[in-house]
Amino acid sequence: MSELRELYQEIVLDHNSRPRNFKEIEDADRVVEGYNPLCGDKIMLYVKFEGDTIADIGFQGTGCAISRASASLMTQQVKGRNVAQAEKLFDRFHEMVTGNVDGDLDFEDLGDLEVMAGVSNFPSRVKCATLSWHSLRSALKSQEAHVTTE
Ligand code: ZN
Repeated sequence: MSELRELYQEIVLDHNSRPRNFKEIEDADRVVEGYNPLCGDKIMLYVKFEGDTIADIGFQGTGCAISRASASLMTQQVKGRNVAQAEKLFDRFHEMVTGNVDGDLDFEDLGDLEVMAGVSNFPSRVKCATLSWHSLRSALKSQEAHVTTE
């Protein structure tokens, strides 16, 4: 079990030091700014659609390792998916990190996102892990362009 935990930490550290899709998209359809005052995490999320498919997604910002790794993993998982699929992923991810599970207790459907499961043991870090997801949901629903976790 500890080996598994080490592997998970490796993935988080890797995504923190080399975040994927860490870029601004100049012709993005939605730009959402997210802020987690509890930790100081800030994110700018850029989403480009083709129909209702997330054709491209990028983020920039500053924050702790959890928030950066989570944003990096999130962009990888939702790119190429449609809005309904991305919203389903949001729900599942939220269930996993908060420990409030309605659906399947097995989170294999989340792929690499499963590395964030350990966050549920650290309630103060849940907002770090979900900041990019709340920003994504706002972008999908075309709500406000500013998201705060408070
Ligand atoms: Zn944080």
